[in-house]
Amino acid sequence: MNIEHASQEQLRLWEHQLAADYAAIVARKLNLDLTRGKPSAEQLSLSDDLDGILKGNYKSLDGTDTRNYGGGEGLPEARALGAAILDASPSETLALGNSSLTLMFQCLLNAVQFGFDGPDSAWHKRGKMTFICPTPGYDRHFTLCEQLGIQMIAVDMGPEGPNMDQVEQLIDQDPSICGMWCVPKYANPTGVTYSDAVVDRMAKLAKRAQPGFRIFWDNAYAVHDLAEPQTLASIMAACNIAGTQDSVIQFASTSKITHAGAGVAFVAMSARNLTSFKTFLNSQSIGPDKVNQLRHMRLLPDMAHLRNHMQAHARILQPRFDAVSSALDAAFTGTDLGQWETPKGGYFVSFDTQPGCAQLVVQMAAEAGVKLTPAGATFPYGKDPQDRNIRIAPSVPSVAEVIAAMEVFVTCVKLASVRRKLAA
Ligand code: PMP
Repeated sequence: MNIEHASQEQLRLWEHQLAADYAAIVARKLNLDLTRGKPSAEQLSLSDDLDGILKGNYKSLDGTDTRNYGGGEGLPEARALGAAILDASPSETLALGNSSLTLMFQCLLNAVQFGFDGPDSAWHKRGKMTFICPTPGYDRHFTLCEQLGIQMIAVDMGPEGPNMDQVEQLIDQDPSICGMWCVPKYANPTGVTYSDAVVDRMAKLAKRAQPGFRIFWDNAYAVHDLAEPQTLASIMAACNIAGTQDSVIQFASTSKITHAGAGVAFVAMSARNLTSFKTFLNSQSIGPDKVNQLRHMRLLPDMAHLRNHMQAHARILQPRFDAVSSALDAAFTGTDLGQWETPKGGYFVSFDTQPGCAQLVVQMAAEAGVKLTPAGATFPYGKDPQDRNIRIAPSVPSVAEVIAAMEVFVTCVKLASVRRKLAA
């Protein structure tokens, strides 16, 4: 189908056929859900050995009794694993609580309220604070900014990462810019991994930004490869060359490695940043849950075990992603109805409809029994200016359910596109 060049007569014919297909789908009374970027029960079961794994031995490698208070930086072996995931140095990596999102909030709050470089550097002193947000992006990042009164400016995501010309121009022109969100590997939701050139330009941003500029490098999908792993260049190595070590704070967690929300989160930053962040943390907690960290280290003592474990995840996830890709390829290759990337990892497929169709597609799919993430959720303030982007999350449903849901999805995209064009 090529909508832009179709005659009115052709459009009306398509509308008639697609409306019949859609009615047949509605009659099936499906109840399917493609909204949740979380592991399936089958994936979670890969880590069930965590339960009881300590068998009464609560000592970490250095003899620490993990049942007691203390160890605010996390167990050394957990810090080493976090550092390996993030390509950072263990001494600059902390292993903390169950959520990297919490750590992002804490780092933001520290920067806004107290300043990583002392009280004068607190972002709130600037008046207006602005973050650069590659879009489509992760809605919870945007919520954190809203909560702390940080304005957001969108930049486009492309096949190699954020549009760096736009990013650099914004930084040159707008002194209120104090930071930027990045999901550098298998981005949520585009699945894109930043190219080496993008990573290199990221590392140099602090040279043109106002003092205090920080990149929030949320590497949530660092080890979440499917069949053909992609490599992300080390941001810290690039920062070391550029002399901008303080400008990047890295995050990761085991949320989509072991049990989601019941794992260990990691944060890595320069020694100078750590001095400030540890002061901030120490007033809030007498130490993280080291018992849970120890459980994780017994299950996944090193990167070799972790990689094996992630391959087991990939074996479960790959057929679901294949089902999405096959449906999109079959329905839309060679048409002008949509654009998408075929991700090599992560949890999402991001689909761009023709402008002005996404909300209608999500609504029609819901009425046909297929829940999709609300249109707009992948943009700051929940507003997709072109009403195009839809995030597809295929990890939880079975393969058969993904196939059924995608049949609904492609029908809705086609019908919404034809109706939009007829109404134009
Ligand atoms: N960052 C990104 C990009 C995510 O997609 C998610 C989970 N959807 C998180 C962070 C949340 O991580 P955590 O469970 O460690 O808070």
